[in-house]
Parts: sequence; C-alpha cells; structure tokens
Amino acid sequence: MSESKLLEKVVETQRKLATLIGVSGHEDEVRNFIFNKLKENADEVWIDRMGNVLGIKKGTDPKGLRIMIDAHMDEVGLLISYIESNGFLRFTPLGGIDKRLYPGSDIKIQTKFGKTVSGIIGMNPPHITDPKLRDISPEFSDLFIDIGANNKDEVKKMGIIVGSRAVMDGRFEYNPDVGSGFMRGRAFDDRTGCNVALQVSILINEMESIPNTILYSFTVCEEVGARGASAATEGLKPDIAIALENTIAADVPGVPLNKQITRLEHGPAFSVADRGTLYHEKLLEIFKLRAEELGYEWQYKTPAFGGTNAGIFHKMHKGIPSGCISVPSRYIHSPISMIKISDILATIKTLFAILTKPIEI
Ligand SMILES: [Zn+2]
Repeated sequence: MSESKLLEKVVETQRKLATLIGVSGHEDEVRNFIFNKLKENADEVWIDRMGNVLGIKKGTDPKGLRIMIDAHMDEVGLLISYIESNGFLRFTPLGGIDKRLYPGSDIKIQTKFGKTVSGIIGMNPPHITDPKLRDISPEFSDLFIDIGANNKDEVKKMGIIVGSRAVMDGRFEYNPDVGSGFMRGRAFDDRTGCNVALQVSILINEMESIPNTILYSFTVCEEVGARGASAATEGLKPDIAIALENTIAADVPGVPLNKQITRLEHGPAFSVADRGTLYHEKLLEIFKLRAEELGYEWQYKTPAFGGTNAGIFHKMHKGIPSGCISVPSRYIHSPISMIKISDILATIKTLFAILTKPIEI
C-alpha cells in the first residue's frame, strides 16, 4: 500500500471509529464495524460469548508462532443509574474519569431505539451554592443530566432506561498542516489501537504468505478492569500477546520531563512495567530493534502508570510472553484527545515488521 493510501485509510478509519459509541458493555456499534472490516482481511472472524471480536490469519510455517494483537473496543463513559420523577437523570461513571471535567458538558445518550439524545450535565447554579463549596469540584452524586424532559414518561418515550450509556460529545478533526499532522476526537483510547490493528490486518492480507499465524483480538470491557481479555486469550491460545494502546502523553506546560509518561511526535511507546505487568524483556528488545531498523524514533512509556489487557494475557495459557505498544495521546479519558499522524504511522509499520520478521525469544 502506498504511503498516501495508508494515511488516507488511517484518517478515515479513525474518523469513523471516533464517531461510534462503545462504553464498556455496550460495544455493539464498534463491534459491528470492526467485525465487517476484519472479515475482509482474515481467514476466520467470530464473536465470542463475551462480545470480543476474534480473528485468525493462518501462517504457512507449521512451526510458526501464534501471535495475538489486541486492542480494546470499549471507552470510558457514563451509565444512567436513576431516573428522577421530574425527568432528570442520575449517572455513575464507567471507567477512570475525572469528575472535574463533567459539569456543564454536552453529552450524548444512547437510546434503546438505536439513536442518541443530547443532554447537559447540570449542577446547582453558583448563585445559590454555598461560597465554601464553589471552589470544590462536585461529586458525581451531586450532578445530573438534563435532557429537557418533564417527567419519567417523557424519558421512557425517548428510549432512555436505567443502564443506558452516555459519552461526552467531542468533535473529530484532522489537520495535516501542523507538525506531522494531528487528529483530535473522542474515544481515541482505544479506537487508535483498533485502527492500528485493522491497518496491520490489511497489510498482512496483502502479503502472499506469512510464516507466523496472526491472531486478532478486539476486546470488550477493558476500562472496567480488563474483563474481556481472559475470554479472548482462551479463545485464541497465543504464544505471544501484544496489547495495542493509546497511552497518556503528558508533554504539556507545567509537567517536568520525568513525569511526561510519553510525548507526541516521538514515535511508538513501548511499555516496560505498569500496574498490571512486568513486560517481556526480549520482546521489548525486538520492538526497539524493528523501530530502529525502519529509522523511527521510539520511546519508553514511563514505568508504573496505568494498566492494560496484558495484565491478564501474561498470566494465562501457561504464561504468555507479552508486550504493549502504544500511540501517545494527550488528554485520554477526557471528551477529546489528540494524536499525531507520524506516531500512528510509525506504530503501524513497526508492528507490521514485528509480526512479519522472525521472533526469537
Ligand atoms: Zn486503553
């Protein structure tokens, strides 16, 4: 695939994935899109009972490795927990989100009719709030969603029930003219990883043959504790697992270098250790080597922060050597994130080289 064609596909896929809603447990929109795309580029694709999309591209070498690449389909968001008699909605967060971001936000709620309804996250007006409380960020239990309904019946008619999911409404934008170019939008964690895996599946399918067997895993419910990862591992039984993520870039004013975790426009980020995994060191060496052979800059993800599905993978199926490759992103788990074009392209090409060259660990 030519460089310009790949870029076009990356941007269009990211745009599409960032408009789909897939809060943990309600990944249907994302699942349908990925299932149909992956079907074009794998030998077999199926959906397991957890809702993970799994696929296989068979290798030609009978002694070849089974390598799993995984990205999670779900995103952080809100779950409607109670409908007030006067038509306001109460909610609870799903996944790690910062309560300071929510008051005054424009949100979209998924209805059971397959549409969305807009809402505003409201709180008491400052004029009638105790001055001592004005400087403190409100708890989720102090906030509510206003969809303009007058009572429970009107809410019901809109198709909103307890358990409906909502997301903040962040607009997608692609700007090729700044630096290496950027994309900004909603749910980049981990639609970016999904995009990387889908592009790699196309590149692999374009090859005449591949020695290793490539296993595709698009998982549910990562944001609420990596709950889809074990079923995916059991379904695919890989020899090696690589989690593809969209990780924290903290290269913003006021953050010292040692706390930036990753930085934009410095290439793919390789994990050494996080709260769930001490990553396989020989695999990590191979990641670095492949990036360097291609002339790409790469970076470590500063150890200790966050966790990924690899936290599950490495403990399963007699112990699976696991790695994690991330595209750095500013403002993850907020209404809108930003990634750089050079980082996602370098991640795709590095991963493709990792999968298609021998892995000796
Ligand atoms: Zn993630």
